[in-house]
Amino acid sequence: MSSQTDPISILKALAHPARLAILEALRYGEACVCHLEALFGWRQAYLSQQLMVLRNAGLLADRREGWNVYYRVIIPDVFVVIDALHQITDRKSTALPPILTSCSCPRCRQEGARETSQSNHLKEPTIHHGQYPPTCH
Ligand SMILES: [Zn+2]
Repeated sequence: MSSQTDPISILKALAHPARLAILEALRYGEACVCHLEALFGWRQAYLSQQLMVLRNAGLLADRREGWNVYYRVIIPDVFVVIDALHQITDRKSTALPPILTSCSCPRCRQEGARETSQSNHLKEPTIHHGQYPPTCH
């Protein structure tokens, strides 16, 4: 199978709720696999499978940093397509919290620490993510 980007493989890659959710999660920047696991609460095998489809369609690239594998969108124009789909179906894109207090990926640890130091007086965390299972392996 060719790894060349073509319209059909892109549309096929988009034709799955989990993969659309992953792309939304990567809309504003890269995220490590561990973060996506914490965000969605999926098994890693399932997540990897969906990431692989997106990568084979030429939409994602990954990079390894220490123990973490980060994924990012390499065709930002895919969001034009996704937004058009939202418009056609009259659905809003899901706003995903960029930082999870329950996640231990480097970005969440860093931003979470900064957030805590800025708002010591607040007992409640500023980001609520009740619907996401608070697990990160
Ligand atoms: Zn994280």
